[in-house]
Amino acid sequence: MRYVSTRGRAPELGFADVLLAGLANDGGLYVPSHWPKLTPRRSSAGSYVDRAVEVMLPFVEPDIDEVTLTHLCTEAYSTFRHPAVVPLVQTGANQWVQELFHGPTLAFKDVALQLVGKMFDHVLAQRGQRVTIVGATSGDTGSAAIDGVSGCDNVDIVILYPLGRTSDVQRRQMTTVDAPNAHAVAVEGTFDDCQDLVKAMFNDAAFRERNRLSAVNSINWARVMAQTVYYVVASETFAEPATFVVPTGNFGNVLAGWIAREMGAPIRDFVLASNTNDILTRFVNDGDMTARPVEPTLSPSMDIQVSSNFERLLFEMNGRDGGMTSEQLDQFRQVGRLDVEPDQRSEFVDGTFRAAAFDDDATLSEIERVHADTGMFVDPHTATGTAAARLFGGPDGPPGPMVTLATAHPAKFPDAVEQATGIRPELPPHLSDLFDRHERTQTVANDLDEVQALVESLTR
Ligand SMILES: *Cc1c(COP(=O)(O)O)cnc(C)c1O
Repeated sequence: MRYVSTRGRAPELGFADVLLAGLANDGGLYVPSHWPKLTPRRSSAGSYVDRAVEVMLPFVEPDIDEVTLTHLCTEAYSTFRHPAVVPLVQTGANQWVQELFHGPTLAFKDVALQLVGKMFDHVLAQRGQRVTIVGATSGDTGSAAIDGVSGCDNVDIVILYPLGRTSDVQRRQMTTVDAPNAHAVAVEGTFDDCQDLVKAMFNDAAFRERNRLSAVNSINWARVMAQTVYYVVASETFAEPATFVVPTGNFGNVLAGWIAREMGAPIRDFVLASNTNDILTRFVNDGDMTARPVEPTLSPSMDIQVSSNFERLLFEMNGRDGGMTSEQLDQFRQVGRLDVEPDQRSEFVDGTFRAAAFDDDATLSEIERVHADTGMFVDPHTATGTAAARLFGGPDGPPGPMVTLATAHPAKFPDAVEQATGIRPELPPHLSDLFDRHERTQTVANDLDEVQALVESLTR
């Protein structure tokens, strides 16, 4: 498979180069040159890993062969605490929830990052190279990335988080990982300060090259690819095409679903669920893609206004015209509004995407309602999804199954769940001693020189 940039001016690359590069050098995102068609399952009794290998092989060949991919997937998904990896739970006549939170850090980001960490280490070992991954986190991504590469021989990882501004569970998931290559660093500043420091490190070419900086943020193609698998696996268990309801922030998750459908998975359509930061919902419903200031909500991993992965969908909407995509994104950056022709938008959106947004009050009522109806706890991100499923499902809903993606374990956001239900959800057994574990962290000033000196000293 060859990969092309959404801005049309970067060299075509193979999978391994795309994995390590992250962003294309014209500022665009890499996408496969075409969408391969799914091959039928070799065995109806096959495991998640079996199907994952069949789905992903066309994207990674020839750089990674089938035996290696099987080995990497087996290792990655053995860290999940459920034999089905991403089990489906029925919650109503036509309603299902797919639990994507059985990985080590209790959020769906583990599905991608457990595999991507192993892929990085494999490709780097083959090339005799090392990298230092640096990133900023407000919570979920940092812990999933640290866990995904902990113990990798050829990768060091330094994650910056804002001192005192992550939840205790999130911080402890980063600071209690016992691996010599993983470092969580508290910055005396905000999440935006952390992001600015990371950007500044990447913009310092000499520093970047000396320390072989790399990133595993949500625009990395391999993360999107790994997520297409659970859409394929879930949709293939039903007799009728499924509707997926997706709590949405950076658009990576729902994009993976769209790709699964392009590949031929039996999927009817998608429902996007947002919180108050509803730019994507406004785009789908009214064609209004105007950025507004980010408002903090109970579902922080969806507190995003500019969804980076939307660029890949825009490229498709533009008939894969990189020049046009580039122009539209320049305009978006300048005036904060993206203009897409109404015909072009409706051709793409109608019959494929619907959307709804829910504020914090609606989210809390939904957590309470789900618990009262089913006895299940849902986290505030997942709750926007089940609320959207309630809105679009029922007697007037689609005839086939509706699958809401559960993106985090309720115990990852215990305060919101307790506020809604009066009950504090418990951490699963493998994390029940999280609050007794030894924390390893360091604190730095919000100062580029200090942070760079620290990263330099941590790079092996
Ligand atoms: C990251 C995240 C999301 C948003 O996913 P995107 O791929 O950014 O749309 C939703 N829920 C949880 C719990 C997350 O961690």
